[in-house]
Amino acid sequence: MACYNACPKQAVEISDSPDGFLYPSVNADKCVDCGACERACPIVSPLSPLGNGHPQAYAVWHKKDRCFSSSGGAFSAFARKVIEKDGVVFGAAFDEDLHLRHTEVWDVEGLAALRGSKYVQSEIGETFRKIKKYLQEGREVFFCGTPCQVAGLRGYLGKSYDNLLTADLACHGVPSDGIFQKYLKKLKNRLGKAEGFVKIENYEFRRRDGWGLAPSISTATNCRPLYGIDALYMEAFDKSAIFRECCYHCPFAKIPRVGDVTLADFWGIGRHGVKFKHNVMRGVSLVLTNTEKGRKALSALGDDTFIEERTLEEALIENHNLTGASKRHPQRTEIIKAFLNKQMGLGEIDRRFHLVDHSMKGQIKMWSLRLGLFEKVKAFYNWYKSR
Ligand SMILES: Cc1cc2nc3c(=O)[nH]c(=O)nc-3n(C[C@H](O)[C@H](O)[C@H](O)COP(=O)(O)OP(=O)(O)OC[C@H]3O[C@@H](n4cnc5c(N)ncnc54)[C@H](O)[C@@H]3O)c2cc1C
Repeated sequence: MACYNACPKQAVEISDSPDGFLYPSVNADKCVDCGACERACPIVSPLSPLGNGHPQAYAVWHKKDRCFSSSGGAFSAFARKVIEKDGVVFGAAFDEDLHLRHTEVWDVEGLAALRGSKYVQSEIGETFRKIKKYLQEGREVFFCGTPCQVAGLRGYLGKSYDNLLTADLACHGVPSDGIFQKYLKKLKNRLGKAEGFVKIENYEFRRRDGWGLAPSISTATNCRPLYGIDALYMEAFDKSAIFRECCYHCPFAKIPRVGDVTLADFWGIGRHGVKFKHNVMRGVSLVLTNTEKGRKALSALGDDTFIEERTLEEALIENHNLTGASKRHPQRTEIIKAFLNKQMGLGEIDRRFHLVDHSMKGQIKMWSLRLGLFEKVKAFYNWYKSR
């Protein structure tokens, strides 16, 4: 979307493709060959690296927002500071039809819509143009997105701004809005009649009261967790089966990272040598500070944020996507086609591609999740390992 934002003649057009993703193309009748799109594109014109390639790693959580965020709420901690300075925060929020778009937020209340990982590609629209305008007006701006989105913003801006802070997320890959919408329809067809609802009002990709990947839906009458075939989208996400083709050779999944800070889950904290003597069950963020600006922003976070320095080695052990792209599922194209096929139900997709683990081990895990035992065992294991 950097090219789309950069074109002064609106000659870059964005359209749907058969795999459900949006792609740019150039309308030759409008194009004046100025090269702005190619200069802005971080693939055609690679960015110079940020920082010295030796980020510091921290375990972080925000004392209030931890329970409303996917990991430890590090995003909210940075966002609150920018809002305190009358700045603006850009992140991904659902509209009322559950399409994900990058959105601007000016107050702490507005952050609620941005919180939480949504495992689908968010639409950037004209976000980069808006950001440039605010930066030129001297406003503080905080942008959080996937590494390719941060790279796109930096490519579009073409220079650094002291009043811009960027956070890139560790990224497993992104499925398309097209696939997500088709999945929601299939899920509604599967559950709606029996459970008496006509609309899925909200979809949570991850529970917020604990620290895990369990999805749930909200309808007019209740909020219910999803398991097994009902959670097929998350099974496919986890197995890297439905990502945009370029995610499998992502050039930004490496150190040096593209943002001033990198935000991720601190998976495995305390289990690989250096003990971590705190309760991790409500989620722990990993923050990498990649630039001097990122380091200053972290040290300004204040008393409502827990911060402990850890080693980069520990941070990387269970978080492969910080240093490498996800491995393409061998049936990725067929699985995407199946999700996009109106005639195919979730049960049939699973029968064809075996996305849900129906082995004894998989079933034990699913039932222990359902019964709440999984969290208890995990809590005990974490306590035992960090004694
Ligand atoms: C597609 C995707 C894949 C990810 N893969 C990994 C991974 O492999 N390993 C890992 O450790 N962490 C991964 N993350 C990051 C992780 O899920 C958390 O978002 C991160 O740890 C921040 O958590 P938090 O508690 O600080 O913030 P939260 O309060 O949970 O906020 C999350 C922030 O991310 C933004 N955001 C949410 N969804 C999207 C989206 N689709 N596109 C762009 N921005 C979005 C929100 O606007 C908000 O700014 C991924 C996130 C996404 C969106």
